[in-house]
Amino acid sequence: MKKHNFNPGPSILPQYTIDKTIEAIRDFAGTGLSILEVSHRSKEFEAVVNDLVANFKELLNIPEGYAVFFVGGGASTQFFHIPYNLLETKAGYLVTGEWATRAYKEAKNFGEAVVVASSEDKNFTYIPKGYTIPADLDYFHITTNNTIFGTEILVDIDSPVPLVADMSSDIFSRPIDVSKYALIYGGAQKNLAPAGLTFVIVREDILGKVTRKLPTMVDYRTHIKNNSLFNTPPCVIMYSALMTCQWLKQMGGVAEMEKVNKAKADMLYAEIDRNKCFVGTVAKEDRSRMNVCFVMADGYKELEEEFAKFASSKGMVGIKGHRSVGGFRASLYNALPLESVKALVECMQEFEQAH
Ligand SMILES: *Cc1c(COP(=O)(O)O)cnc(C)c1O
Repeated sequence: MKKHNFNPGPSILPQYTIDKTIEAIRDFAGTGLSILEVSHRSKEFEAVVNDLVANFKELLNIPEGYAVFFVGGGASTQFFHIPYNLLETKAGYLVTGEWATRAYKEAKNFGEAVVVASSEDKNFTYIPKGYTIPADLDYFHITTNNTIFGTEILVDIDSPVPLVADMSSDIFSRPIDVSKYALIYGGAQKNLAPAGLTFVIVREDILGKVTRKLPTMVDYRTHIKNNSLFNTPPCVIMYSALMTCQWLKQMGGVAEMEKVNKAKADMLYAEIDRNKCFVGTVAKEDRSRMNVCFVMADGYKELEEEFAKFASSKGMVGIKGHRSVGGFRASLYNALPLESVKALVECMQEFEQAH
């Protein structure tokens, strides 16, 4: 049976990325060696790093003055690397979910961190609006897509202070105006590559301003100066990330991705709104295109387990909701084809007819 992979992360990857990674595991760039066993200092691997940086710049239209680098540790490590590198007196956080909360808590270890606005009052079911970003912040941190709660900031907001964004789960899902951000980062395992890699895009003029001493590996300038090769990076994952970038270009780039992502999300939300058995969990205007959360509607609550089993029998994988939301979450990352969303919608319709 065909499986439809709605996993929240690690998650579905383009078949192209998987096939090309397998090829490189057999024979990397004609070296006669596996990419699993070559030096990160070989000229062939250095070409991978350079290519990956160049692809990021091209796909996201990154302006002059920005550096792109890759490290391990996941987005969670960036939660403390960011204040380490940038927080001198005060930082502000938009608290829109679990990841944003964790980022905020880490910042408090380095200085004053304030919650500029939060949606915790309604279990993070909306994106706060109408808040003012204080002008005296070293930076303002946002999470553009709230992977667990299914809300998303789909505009590049204006900020009077350097804007820092966790884009772990929506990078490359739409065109962004990078010039509005001072720093963009994320883990690779949602929309780019297997787990183990973190990307950082940073405007270089914001660095070197804090007075604290930075450990070498924490200092962003180390990784920029050494082209992500100061220490041994996750080589294989970087290769996979490069393959996803190539695939994105073949698909027409992020503008084309946005069209497909919008079509997929619209289709699923339309079914949730139409189907008597299900109801969405977040404010309609803040619905995420990447992670679609829904629960059983009133009167059908006791059927949750039954729908989970039914969907699984139809090949749906990874739609169980996060424990803090319950119900279901379908993650519709770039690599998920429209036909998988159609299959889920049909499954929901069949279930409704049976009840
Ligand atoms: C998954 C996720 C994280 C955590 O990423 P790790 O790489 O596991 O540390 C952080 N932020 C967002 C938005 C995420 O989706």
